Amino acid sequence: MTATIISGKQVSEDIRGRIAGEVKGLAAKGVVPGLAVVLVGEDPASQVYVRNKEKACHDLGFYSEVHRLPAETSQAQLLALVDELNRKEAIDGILVQLPLPGHIDEKAVINAIAVGKDVDGFHPVNVGNLVIGDDSLLPCTPAGVIELIKRAGISLSGKHAVVIGRSNIVGKPVSLLLQRENATVTMCHSRTENMAEIARQADVLVVAIGRANFIDASYVKPGAVVIDVGMNRLENGKLAGDVDFDSVKEVCGPITPVPGGVGPMTITMLMQNTLIAAKRHHGLS
Ligand code: NAP
Repeated sequence: MTATIISGKQVSEDIRGRIAGEVKGLAAKGVVPGLAVVLVGEDPASQVYVRNKEKACHDLGFYSEVHRLPAETSQAQLLALVDELNRKEAIDGILVQLPLPGHIDEKAVINAIAVGKDVDGFHPVNVGNLVIGDDSLLPCTPAGVIELIKRAGISLSGKHAVVIGRSNIVGKPVSLLLQRENATVTMCHSRTENMAEIARQADVLVVAIGRANFIDASYVKPGAVVIDVGMNRLENGKLAGDVDFDSVKEVCGPITPVPGGVGPMTITMLMQNTLIAAKRHHGLS
């Protein structure tokens, strides 16, 4: 086995330690970063995510508000809450937990969040700024992927990165961020032909498809960096990535495990975005 494990848990703890230190410094200036999380309905996975976000805020010294709304909340009611949070001085970041119930137009809600408080990085203005390379709040999971790669000491400049998956929340922004780091990027998706052949050309392979253990060793060049974004709940209740870890670890170089890889980075990047938003809000950056 040539693989080394990139621990998202460890990297996440390091970054959180730095954030907690910065929060203490801000507190001395009378500034406390504030995050509002809005949850509509009772989706069990969303409830867990929201609790984890609440805990992270508490651990790092952020002010937090969680608004738990019933599933039958109307779009108008939700938009009114977003509007209130946009104007609330103590709130620097707003996160509306997705998915929303079917009767609510997610795009309308995301578009209503103030651009400077859009700590999920999903507002079209933040997405547009990412595309043109301007300053923006970056989507959390993609930002976490890049941070993990960099902190593992891996240089992306000039490398061939292959991203499998082209969703708006993972694949597309990851590919843009990899380009920003001067990687040469190829994107694959469900219609890609000869995907294993393309993937085997990757120095860095990022997988975000939502299919448990789909990518085996036949997709991986010996020594390649493998980043597994997948989080798939198996019938036995265990969490599996999109990468068949046991097979791939025999050929790859550094690899992220599931759990303990990209997963922990997402909330950490959310906290980082909220800190950035708070500093901008108070003219401190
Ligand atoms: P998604 O919106 O369902 O998108 C999946 C993408 O994968 C699509 O672009 C799809 O192609 C492509 N795809 C599906 N099957 C494929 C196949 N057999 N071969 C090649 N491409 C294929 O999923 P997502 O939201 O990006 O999430 C992907 C995975 O990441 C999921 O397991 C999710 O749970 C996980 N995730 C983890 C975190 C985290 O915090 N760690 C955050 C977000 C997501 P088409 O576009 O052609 O349909």
